Amino acid sequence: MKILVLNSGSSSVKYRLFDGTTTLAKGLIERIGESGGDAADHEAALQRVMASVDLDGLDAVGHRVVHGGSEFRKATVIDDDVFAVIEGLVPLAPLHNPAALSGIAVARKLLPDVPQVAVFDTAFHQTIPPEGAVYAIDASLAERWQIRRYGFHGTSHAYVARQTAELLGLPADRAKVITLHLGNGASACAVEGGRSVATSMGMSPLPGLVMGTRSGDIDPTVIFHLHRVAGLPIDEIERSLTRFAGLQGLAGDNDMRTVQDRWAAGDPAATLAFDVYCRRIKEYVGTYLAILGGADAIAFTAGVGEHSPEVRTASLAGLSALGITIDEARNERGDRIISPDGAPVAVCVVPTDEELEIAQQVTEQLRD
Ligand code: AMP
Repeated sequence: MKILVLNSGSSSVKYRLFDGTTTLAKGLIERIGESGGDAADHEAALQRVMASVDLDGLDAVGHRVVHGGSEFRKATVIDDDVFAVIEGLVPLAPLHNPAALSGIAVARKLLPDVPQVAVFDTAFHQTIPPEGAVYAIDASLAERWQIRRYGFHGTSHAYVARQTAELLGLPADRAKVITLHLGNGASACAVEGGRSVATSMGMSPLPGLVMGTRSGDIDPTVIFHLHRVAGLPIDEIERSLTRFAGLQGLAGDNDMRTVQDRWAAGDPAATLAFDVYCRRIKEYVGTYLAILGGADAIAFTAGVGEHSPEVRTASLAGLSALGITIDEARNERGDRIISPDGAPVAVCVVPTDEELEIAQQVTEQLRD
């Protein structure tokens, strides 16, 4: 099937055209709406995409949508009702869902005869049982304001867990895999039989692991304290925790490559940032080993996960009593399997491919 995958951000559109699993074309339209940018608005951006690729025989357009709330458990063909439900979820993802909606509206207008399918970052995590998704707060407040754990990076975790099971020859319906997506954003996921049973992000993509500029888990009282005692307005606290926290907050640098260079040179702030980052990963690995009752595999993916042997080593150090060890030569080489042969828990490096996963989910949806 020929599928166009669109990832529409507020000022950019990333696209990739697939024929089955083969990429026919890909590109990025940037700085939409800015003077000197690639396009005046989303419509102009999509017109550029359409002019630059051969859409003859296109079977569907797949749209990445960050937030599908509790409403969407899988990829969904978009009609007016589905569009309205995604619009209704804007308060849960005020930065992300409006951009996706612009892309969807323009694609429906320009390609009215082609099915449009929404693929949600949250959908994969809808299988997390209530005890892993519900926050222990006033239940009436939670219900009224749709407060619960939704989780994100779902397409990546789904893809990587499946690839890992395939790589190791594990039965897909029983494999227990802990996936660690470590990019600019970072999250962990416990996957059992291809279904998400726990994940580290929550109602928003802020909690969980330490990220490039996001704090990950903190005591919520930090927010009250910064507001009441330090006098910071709530918007400024949100900006601080999302843009000036994580590696950026601890080391003044959000790029793990630079943090590692400084760590190697003995820089104390970078060393602390690296240690906090890796310890948080270890905390989630321990939690998910308990949730799964042991794991067949741990898979590292995304920018840091795929390219940093140092982070892989440090975050799993000292876990040999739990059957988790790394073969340093394999790790340094960046082999797909970096644990020793016969280790109780396989440790893997599995490149993610969110666009390919979106195209595959669109194909499955159209075949249903
Ligand atoms: P992603 O969001 O998946 O593109 O990941 C981006 C992040 O991966 C960057 O911010 C870098 O910090 C990190 N990264 C990429 N290459 C390396 C590397 N060789 N070593 C450590 N971190 C890396």
